[in-house]
Amino acid sequence: MFEKAKWFNDYDSPVIFGIDDLSNAYYNYDSPENRNFYAKYDFGYRGLKEDSIFTYFKKFLLDKYPEIKYTVFLPFGKMSALHKSNTPYLYSIFDTKDFIDLLRYIIKSGNEIAYHGHHHGYKNASFLQPTWCKEYESFAKKDEFINLIKNDLEKFEKMFNYKIKGGRSPCFMWEDELIQPLIDLGFKWWSFHHIEKNGFISRQYKGYNIVSMPSNVEGNIFSPNFKSLKGKIKDILKKRNLKRLIKNREVISVAEHFMTSRADGIRQYLNIFDDIYSLDKLFAFFRTQKIWYATFSDVAKYFTDFHNSKIIKLDSNVFSYTNNKNKTTPEISIVSSVRKIKNLETGKFYYAHMVDGKWIFNNLKIGKYRLIDE
Ligand SMILES: [Zn+2]
Repeated sequence: MFEKAKWFNDYDSPVIFGIDDLSNAYYNYDSPENRNFYAKYDFGYRGLKEDSIFTYFKKFLLDKYPEIKYTVFLPFGKMSALHKSNTPYLYSIFDTKDFIDLLRYIIKSGNEIAYHGHHHGYKNASFLQPTWCKEYESFAKKDEFINLIKNDLEKFEKMFNYKIKGGRSPCFMWEDELIQPLIDLGFKWWSFHHIEKNGFISRQYKGYNIVSMPSNVEGNIFSPNFKSLKGKIKDILKKRNLKRLIKNREVISVAEHFMTSRADGIRQYLNIFDDIYSLDKLFAFFRTQKIWYATFSDVAKYFTDFHNSKIIKLDSNVFSYTNNKNKTTPEISIVSSVRKIKNLETGKFYYAHMVDGKWIFNNLKIGKYRLIDE
C-alpha cells in the first residue's frame, strides 16, 4: 500500500479553532473612577497583561492543552460593534504597543491571524430604527472597500513580516461580487458560513477559486446545562454531530469570540470567557481521538495539495507520485505498508515514521518509488 493520507499523519479529523473579534478595546462596566481591569471585559486591549482576556485564555486553556492551534479572525480598524460610551479604550490594531506585542506573540507561537473586516460593519443611525449594516455597504464604490483591505494587508505585512492568507466576513455576510477581488488580493481561503452539521471544505466557492473553509462546532457545546428539555436535546444532537464529523473524517471547526459584548450591548453568547469550561471538556474529548491540530491555512494548504497530487500503481511494488501543479514537494502525508522506499530516478532511499501503527511519509518529493520489503 502506498496512498495519500486524507489528513496529516493520517489522523481522522483536523481540528481548527477560529476565534473572532480580537479587538484593541476594553469594555468598561465600572465607573470611570474604577481603574481596575478584568479579563471578563477585555477584548484584547490589555494584551499579554495578567488581567487580559488573552492571558485568561492562555492560562485556562492553552497551557493545559498546548497541542491547540487557533486562528484569530481580526478586524483591523477600531472595532465598530461596540458602544462608544461604554468603551473608553478603543483603538486600531496598530495603535498600542500592548496589542502589537500580543499579535507578535500569536504569530511567533505558530498560530494564525486572519482577516475579519476593517471595522466589522457599522450602525446606520439615519433610519428611524438604527440597523446594522454590512461593512461593504458603507462604501459607495466597491473599489474603495477593496483598497482599504489592500492597505490593511500591506501595512500588516510590513509591520509583522507576516502574510494573511484567509479570512471570514463579519457575521458571515459578504457579497459574491467581492470574492474575485479578495482572490486578487491574495486570499487563499475564506470562511463563508457557520453550519452545524457540515464539515464541508471545498476548493471552490460558487465557481470562484478560493478554498471554502467550514465552521461547524460552537465552543459552548459542553457548557453546564441548565436548559429546557428542548435545549438539552439540542445539546445531545450537537455532541452526536461532533462524533459523526470524526467518524466521517471531516474537518471540525470550532467557533468562538474574544469579544464578550455584542453591538447592542448584550453579552455575546459565544465567548472564550464564559465558555472556558466547555472548551476544556471539548479539548479533553479531542485527546481521546486521532486529531490533527491545525490552523485554517494548514488545512486549506493540505487539502489543496492533496487534490493536486496523484499516486498511480505501476507495478506490484512501484508507484508514480505526481502533482498537477508542478509542486515538487507536496505538503501531504502518504501511508505506506512498508518503512523503506527507493526513489527510482535518484536511487535515494526514504524511511517512514510510525504514527498510530502506520508508516507515514511527510512532504515526500514527487517521483517514481519502489517499496522495499525488509
Ligand atoms: Zn465578528
